[in-house]
Amino acid sequence: SLTCQKVHWNDGHKTKCKVNSAQTANTKSFSGVALVPARGTSTISKKPTEVLFPYNEFVELFNWEKPGFPPRGLLNCGNSCFANVVLQCLASTRPLVAYLLEKGHRKECRRSDWCFLCELQIHIERSSQSLHPFSPTNILSRLPNIGGNLGYGRQEDAHEFMRFAIDTMQSVCLDEFGGEKAVDRSSQETTLIQHIFGGHLQSQVICTNCNKISNQCENMMDLTVEINGDASSLEECLDQFTVKEWLHGENMYKCDGCNDYVKAWKRLTILWAPNILTIALKRF
Ligand SMILES: [Zn+2]
Ligand SMILES: [Zn+2]
Ligand SMILES: [Zn+2]
Repeated sequence: SLTCQKVHWNDGHKTKCKVNSAQTANTKSFSGVALVPARGTSTISKKPTEVLFPYNEFVELFNWEKPGFPPRGLLNCGNSCFANVVLQCLASTRPLVAYLLEKGHRKECRRSDWCFLCELQIHIERSSQSLHPFSPTNILSRLPNIGGNLGYGRQEDAHEFMRFAIDTMQSVCLDEFGGEKAVDRSSQETTLIQHIFGGHLQSQVICTNCNKISNQCENMMDLTVEINGDASSLEECLDQFTVKEWLHGENMYKCDGCNDYVKAWKRLTILWAPNILTIALKRF
């Protein structure tokens, strides 16, 4: 029954069923896209040796039943709209908000220097209490601490800011366990941030000479999708994103089976969808 399914799902079915979902992911497809066989060499990540944030706790946060708070306006303090839109999205990401308001990060923070997650907690608390729009200067004034070449008062790219913000939160989560180098790759995918935003993207290449199938699987925190030609809906853009690409000419593929450059088909698919999917639309 639906109730049983819900109980089963809330019990953390998704973590236990990674292998199955990886196998069935290939049979589901958007309309009009030819199926690609699921056999072949694969680099699907191993089971993590250590779960850093229990999945059932994440599910509780995901199903947080408090209504949250109404969106709070953010003032533009000079070219800061790119950051404000991202902060608004993060302030509406339920499991993240539930975590920061219910459990909180600041008390347990291991960072001695400036910490984005600490500041985001202050920001979310302020958003949930404030009656008036405010400027998130505690974060904006420290943009260079978040990453890359982000600078205060400059117009930057919202997607880039989002990437840095999520990467920073991920590394704060890993700090608790000794940092990135101390945690194996598959366990790194079990932080709260990974449970919220993480998924797997698969790139499959089929050699037209020996028919060898090679699957490369990589962690994704968001999808960058191009708007090609006259695409009129997100579904259409996703269809194009997952369409088979013909590798030939200068783009020939180096096949392990043939040990030579060959013509091949390449296709990207979302092997394991994130619980909260961020899509950046590229327009040019
Ligand atoms: Zn399942
Ligand atoms: Zn912190
Ligand atoms: Zn080959």
